Amino acid sequence: MEAAGISGSVSVDDQRSFIKIETLRGKNLTEIHSALREVCDMARGQQKIQSQQKNAKKQAESKKKHGHDQKAAAKAALVYTCAICRTQMPDPKTFKQHFESKHPKTPLPPELVDVEA
Ligand SMILES: [Zn+2]
Repeated sequence: MEAAGISGSVSVDDQRSFIKIETLRGKNLTEIHSALREVCDMARGQQKIQSQQKNAKKQAESKKKHGHDQKAAAKAALVYTCAICRTQMPDPKTFKQHFESKHPKTPLPPELVDVEA
C-alpha cells in the first residue's frame, strides 16, 4: 500500500487505517487515494483560510489602532475651545485670531490677553 505524496495534518497511521477500512468496504486504491487527497487538501485549505483570517484580523486591529491614534492625536492637538462658539483650536495664537475676528464685541478671555496674534 502506497500513501506517498499525501501529507498534511492526517498522519500516516490515519491514512493506513482509512485505506484498510475503505478496502474492506470494497473501494479500490485509486478511489481511496483520491478521497485521502481530498481530506488532506481540505486540511491544507482550512489552514490557509485560518491564516487568511488571522492576517485580516491583524490588519483590522492595526488599522483600528492606527485610526484611534490619529483621532487621539487630533483631539490632543485641539486644546483650546472657544467659550462662545465651541470651536476648537490647536494653539492660543489661532484662538486669539479666531476670537478677535468672530467675537469682536466679546472681551478677550484673560488667558488670551497676553498672547501675540
Ligand atoms: Zn468662537
